[in-house]
Amino acid sequence: MKFNLHTHTDYCDGTKKVKEMIEGALKYNYDIIGISSHGPLPFESDWTMPKDRLKDYIKEVNKLKKVYENRIKVLVGLELDYIPDFKMEYIDKEIFNELDYWIGSVHFLGKNKNGDYWTVDYNEKELRKGVEDSFEGNIKKAVETYYKYLEEMVEIYHPTILGHLDLIKKNNGNSNFFNENEKWYRDAVFSLLEKIKKGNTVIELNTGGKYRGYTLDYYPSNWILKEIKDRNIPITVSRDAHDVKSLNYDYEESIRLLTMMGFKNISCFDGEKWKELKI
Ligand SMILES: [Zn+2]
Ligand SMILES: [Zn+2]
Repeated sequence: MKFNLHTHTDYCDGTKKVKEMIEGALKYNYDIIGISSHGPLPFESDWTMPKDRLKDYIKEVNKLKKVYENRIKVLVGLELDYIPDFKMEYIDKEIFNELDYWIGSVHFLGKNKNGDYWTVDYNEKELRKGVEDSFEGNIKKAVETYYKYLEEMVEIYHPTILGHLDLIKKNNGNSNFFNENEKWYRDAVFSLLEKIKKGNTVIELNTGGKYRGYTLDYYPSNWILKEIKDRNIPITVSRDAHDVKSLNYDYEESIRLLTMMGFKNISCFDGEKWKELKI
């Protein structure tokens, strides 16, 4: 059973149409493809879906679900943002009823002095300025806040999948902002894992950062995967695909890594429930 639930399209910052991503998934012998463009935000952005396209998006994916039903299972999802000040209250509750599943992510961590929200993953300069403006330059406080937001999102909103758990490391090459071995960092991750264990959200191993050359390893880091395994928390695998080629990037390798870590199963969402697949 080959599946991917983290797939972007040209409704957001993906490069291909929904149909092209489905055709790509067929080419790579997928059984399930979940489409998960970035949902609309309560303010302007160039990487998310404009608010007035959301209905068309859901309609189009549902239409293609029917067209392809004998060849591949297509699911309709969204990657939705937990945003400081808004949490997820800016999202129309009705939308969740129209989705098969959704991915909950934290990209925004605060507001710059000019009032614009900044993201943890754009680039090093934006991260540095954001930490300066929102956290008086205190990276520990910024990172702890990032994990606190993930905890709140999991506890209050129960996303189907938690998106790229340690995205905050994306611009931390050479540990130029923080060291993942420090106790405070590990404690922030442990606290999040405890919250996840109590709920029904599944963590994804996300190959997107490595595919795009931003990180040397996957989200989350290997030591976090080990902690997930030790706590018996379910894990799934995702491409975070923004183009067709990435659909097939490190598919076997990422599962092999989980096997090496001691995982016996990966979780696959079939549109109704999570199933455990032996690996
Ligand atoms: Zn994301
Ligand atoms: Zn994504």
